[in-house]
Amino acid sequence: MFDPANLEWRCHICRRMRPDSFISVVSSDTSHDYDLPKGSVTQNVRYCNDSPSCEAAAKNPTYRL
Ligand SMILES: [Zn+2]
Repeated sequence: MFDPANLEWRCHICRRMRPDSFISVVSSDTSHDYDLPKGSVTQNVRYCNDSPSCEAAAKNPTYRL
């Protein structure tokens, strides 16, 4: 049976594999990078929600995957 508690994701910042409950996602519009209209391109950055440094890096508007 599918159990999301067993899911693990890799943090984009520190590259560690973390359980689902410790990973959050921040979405940002990166359309400007490609000269496209707002809303064309979104990046989803995963970060450890228990690590202030991962969170700060992920939420930095200049961070790119
Ligand atoms: Zn991390």
